[in-house]
Amino acid sequence: MTRESADIVIIGGGIVGLMTARLLALEGADVMLIEAGDLGAEASGANAGSIHLQIQYPEFVAYGEDWARAYGPCLGFLKQSLALWANLPEELGADLGVKLTGGIIAARTDAQMDLIVAKAGIEAEAGVETEILGREDLLQSAPYLSPEVIGGGYCRLEGKANPLQVTPALARAAVHAGARIATHTRVSDIASVQGGHVVVTTCGEVRTGRIVNAAGAAADRIGAMIGTTLDISGYPLQVTVTEPAAALIPHLVYSAAGKLSLKQVANGGCVIGGGWPARERAGGMLVTDPGSLAGNMGVAAETVPALLRIRALRSWTAWVNGTPDWRPILGEDPNCPGVIHALFPWVGFSAGPMTARVAADLALGHPSPVALVGLSLLCD
Ligand SMILES: Cc1cc2nc3c(=O)[nH]c(=O)nc-3n(C[C@H](O)[C@H](O)[C@H](O)COP(=O)(O)OP(=O)(O)OC[C@H]3O[C@@H](n4cnc5c(N)ncnc54)[C@H](O)[C@@H]3O)c2cc1C
Repeated sequence: MTRESADIVIIGGGIVGLMTARLLALEGADVMLIEAGDLGAEASGANAGSIHLQIQYPEFVAYGEDWARAYGPCLGFLKQSLALWANLPEELGADLGVKLTGGIIAARTDAQMDLIVAKAGIEAEAGVETEILGREDLLQSAPYLSPEVIGGGYCRLEGKANPLQVTPALARAAVHAGARIATHTRVSDIASVQGGHVVVTTCGEVRTGRIVNAAGAAADRIGAMIGTTLDISGYPLQVTVTEPAAALIPHLVYSAAGKLSLKQVANGGCVIGGGWPARERAGGMLVTDPGSLAGNMGVAAETVPALLRIRALRSWTAWVNGTPDWRPILGEDPNCPGVIHALFPWVGFSAGPMTARVAADLALGHPSPVALVGLSLLCD
């Protein structure tokens, strides 16, 4: 690329950028996706693969009921995204490791149980059903849980997908639909010109009418290029996987006793995460934090004691895109018409399909398929 043009330029080749590129190309748009590194090599390929719907328990405890109610529109959005996940393997003709077999949160104390019940009430107000299970019912559905659990919540629609399968399949589908993709090409500036924008990259310039900012944890830097402050940044996280074990855990498992997301993937390995921080080395490189590793493994083994007999094999780190109140930045930039921000934080893998749907519709000049007021930080 030295000097090119495209109707729509997408910045970022994670789940959101790739899905948006595919949707736009399927609609016949002339679309070019620009990715600084390799496709899916940041959060979208390095996440834990949980398909979340329920309000995350640690944030419910930390931020409270008013925050949870304000997050309600995001639950509706996630629910629509999960419906798109259910169809995605067939749509792409690819095995993506999608299994929507439900998510369980386990409590060990009455206080935790009370919070799960309160959280379920707010989820129900937002149209998300979470069943409350007593000890017997919980252990019958999930006999792998510790006998010390006293009950929990069950969200039937949640599940998992394999990030290592999802982004390559999306990239193939986007190219097949006609999208152009430039990798190892970093966007370094954006200039507004008559009738559109010039996207300046490390490999040349692209003249375009519309831009989709799908740059994940680095999206604030794209905002700065057009003079917009975006309250999104990168937070370092880590995840661990165990050796393969016999099939034991069909659900996505959370604990009210500590931060945890746990699932068993197709080869039998258990993927263990839940928002434990990694450590940043000088120069911005991430390394595993031993304290987080011990804490994460401790909560996991307390919740599913069989993990005490299974070896952890590998931990990895990546930057997650985070906003302070967990709400997305979604919609056309109020100061720079033609630039669409497509940024769903913290659980952006789960929300990816719906985020891309909204971004594609807006980039085509159509109305958003969901109300953005109350949902997006851009529309407050
Ligand atoms: C360790 C970890 C575990 C997680 N677990 C889960 C989970 O289980 N479930 C869940 O729902 N979510 C999870 N998440 C969050 C989820 O992965 C992200 O929210 C989601 O992948 C964001 O997708 P994205 O496409 O917006 O951004 P990304 O995947 O980050 O993609 C953005 C892309 O933009 C590119 N880019 C940035 N700047 C430029 C530039 N200037 N020029 C060109 N390209 C640029 C980057 O190189 C990157 O490839 C997790 C995140 C992490 C880090």
